[in-house]
Amino acid sequence: MNAEIIAVGSELLTPHRQDTNSLYLTEKLNDLGVEVRFKCIVGDDAEGLTAAAKLAMRRSDIIIFSGGLGPTEDDLTREAVADGLGLKVQRDPAVLAKLEERFAQRGMKMSANNAKQADILTSATVMPNPLGTAPGQWIAGKYDGQERLVMLLPGPPHELKALFEAECMPRLRTRIPPQHIATRTLKMAMMPESQVDARVAPIYKTYSDVQTTILAGAGEIQLHLRCRKDSPAEAEARVAELAGKIEDELGDAIFSRKGETIEQIVSYLLQMRSMTLAVAESCTGGLLAERITSLSGSSRYFLGGAVVYSNALKTQFANVPKALIDRHGAVSREVAASMAEGIRKRCLASYGIGITGVAGPSGGTEQKPVGLVYIALAGEEGTQVVERNFPGDRKRIRQFATQQALEMIRRALV
Ligand code: ATP
Ligand code: MG
Repeated sequence: MNAEIIAVGSELLTPHRQDTNSLYLTEKLNDLGVEVRFKCIVGDDAEGLTAAAKLAMRRSDIIIFSGGLGPTEDDLTREAVADGLGLKVQRDPAVLAKLEERFAQRGMKMSANNAKQADILTSATVMPNPLGTAPGQWIAGKYDGQERLVMLLPGPPHELKALFEAECMPRLRTRIPPQHIATRTLKMAMMPESQVDARVAPIYKTYSDVQTTILAGAGEIQLHLRCRKDSPAEAEARVAELAGKIEDELGDAIFSRKGETIEQIVSYLLQMRSMTLAVAESCTGGLLAERITSLSGSSRYFLGGAVVYSNALKTQFANVPKALIDRHGAVSREVAASMAEGIRKRCLASYGIGITGVAGPSGGTEQKPVGLVYIALAGEEGTQVVERNFPGDRKRIRQFATQQALEMIRRALV
């Protein structure tokens, strides 16, 4: 069975409010083995809402509306959905009495507008909302010969959640054949998306029952696997089988299989080997240290380091000889290596990392363009330097550079 979520509210179409209800609903539906195929956000606009309702009824088995059940002029969900489904609304005397009672209990007089919240679609079951005034509505019926389940839920997230949990979940459980979704996330660092896809597509294409999605970020590719089956064991087995084949193909390039971040993996590896790390950062300005220390317990392996922007401080804090900077320039393979070695020595660390580059958008030259970054890792076995030309803006280049550094230390440790 497939679901569609329609979030109603003009505020959700502004940059100020996000539709979070659909995220919650998606999680709950997935737990039931129901895939969400479409999400839609509609403003407080009757025509738009009716059109969205009609479209959803054609293509989705389960349709959940969130919001627009309030008492004000702009709360149009009931009427618009009724139009879309070819139903009518009727004021329900029992719901109206409950509403009046609720207001009376608080010593308030109910305004005429509020009565609107007792308008119920013909054939709908009322789902009581103990946390608010607008009850939910449940409609199960045939539309153009297809079985459809439609829910109208209030917009305030705490009301929606309570109502969905108490009223919708039990009803859905009795109607949905038990289905289970197993998921797996594999993460790779510093590999181009096209290269990952070229290698794994021939494998995942043979698993038509496992949905595979590639998500690319700055220096990180994630492969999301997802499989829906009648039993958890079956779903898990299919996902595990495909993941295993992809792991065989990509090998060490995969740094995470359980959703861990690369910082976490580096943390495990350093602790496992009882090793320590120090960093000297120029163009990343402390971002690498920030990422490493975002984990609690990082003091066990991260000794510290320095942000060495000026040439003088590269010499003073990271032991980079002035002559080396004069000869090669601050952005160079030699200086990156010297920074890594210098900080390693000064901090008495197992590993030292040095990063120097041009983060831009200004400061680039023909020989040293924006995006050129040298990342060096110094350890007992020696020093390695990687030269990269990262694409993107300042933020992305800095993110790429730290990702490269984390990947280098991870590779050195595995
Ligand atoms: P009422 O008007 O009785 O509070 P309602 O069903 O009309 O209920 P809305 O007016 O649409 O609900 O929204 C009430 C509150 O809930 C607003 O603060 C709104 O921003 C928030 N809200 C509505 N929809 C969502 C959503 N999809 N995700 C997150 N918050 C939402
Ligand atoms: Mg609203």
